[in-house]
Amino acid sequence: MPEFDPQRPLADLRELAELTGGEGGARRLAWSDDWARAREWLLAKIEQTGATVERDAAGNLWATKPGESDEVLVVGSHIDAVPHGGWLDGALGIAAALECLRAHDGKVTLKLVDWADEEGARFGRSLLGSSAAAGTLDPDAVRTLTDAQGTTLPDALKAHGVDLDAMGEATLDGIDAYLELHIEQGPRLEEAGKPAAAVIGCYGVERHAIAFTGRASHAGSTPMDLRHDAFLAAAKFGLAARDSAIARGGVATIGTVKAEPGIPTIINERCEVTLDQRAFTPEQLRDMLADVKAAADRIAAEEGVEVEWTRIWQIDPVPFDEHLVELAAQAVAETTGDEAPRLPSGALHDCAEVARVLPAVMVFSSSTGGVSHSPVEDTPEEDLLVALRAFGRLYELASAGITSRP
Ligand SMILES: [Zn+2]
Repeated sequence: MPEFDPQRPLADLRELAELTGGEGGARRLAWSDDWARAREWLLAKIEQTGATVERDAAGNLWATKPGESDEVLVVGSHIDAVPHGGWLDGALGIAAALECLRAHDGKVTLKLVDWADEEGARFGRSLLGSSAAAGTLDPDAVRTLTDAQGTTLPDALKAHGVDLDAMGEATLDGIDAYLELHIEQGPRLEEAGKPAAAVIGCYGVERHAIAFTGRASHAGSTPMDLRHDAFLAAAKFGLAARDSAIARGGVATIGTVKAEPGIPTIINERCEVTLDQRAFTPEQLRDMLADVKAAADRIAAEEGVEVEWTRIWQIDPVPFDEHLVELAAQAVAETTGDEAPRLPSGALHDCAEVARVLPAVMVFSSSTGGVSHSPVEDTPEEDLLVALRAFGRLYELASAGITSRP
């Protein structure tokens, strides 16, 4: 049986970066000509493995190598990238999946998948292709999305042969397990001095807009004890959100701040912020949200302002399959000779959509400086080789596990 050789995906990654990258970073924005060219490159690579290729109704690209058994193991990630993105985000998992096709031992049926539009960088909707396949995409919720040039999502899809209303015909039926290799996109592995980890799942998210309304008045003639300063209320709220995240073991971010009237000589009447809270258990998320709601009420009373909440988005945490997490940890431990770190992912991934429907797991490599979505995104070569080797081992373990299942 052909061996999984981590050097080959590394060479593929460099080739892809040469072709679709350069100084300004990756040029593989979903539903663009650049993206189509990256897929042409991938198709040529797949062809060399002898796999057959098909595209599903959501624009996801599938390559299949049939096996002796009907059991189906899927490996994959996304070749699309944010504008000026890095050379590894998504591409690492695609290169690893390609190598799995080359190393296929003919037992289980093996599929590579390249999910369409993981990043959502052009229309703001991430995980588009994988959510369609997982049955969680609502076409009406994305129908009116437009890019910066005013092109609508349905038109951009049509230009690439995808009909928004047919995307739900994509399916994960018949698949027994899904594996994905990805860079961490955070600093935890580098800080711990570890090259790779088993990922236990993805954080859930609570995202809200919070508007504080006070009273505009003159910056010179209004005494400090008679102010109703909406900005200061929002500022105290941001600190309270941070304290809660630290106390509960999650993360919280005030991403946007809009203060009105926003003039140097006027006390701000209104300040709207967005809060993005993430944590790995539903209990943590629930407690973090309760903390900040109580804090907002308290701060509003202290500052003499009104507060109003609007939920923007919410997603429950997605734990990965326990058995596959064990296999991933075993694969990493065997490769490094060291106990495998197990971490939740703070970022969402296609794997989170897949994991709602079937057993799925990810392996992370370290990320230099925790930087991603940037041309300087990188991972030391020795860490990439370890992560690739671990993923190759996970692929072996998972295929053997599927065939031996009662
Ligand atoms: Zn990615």
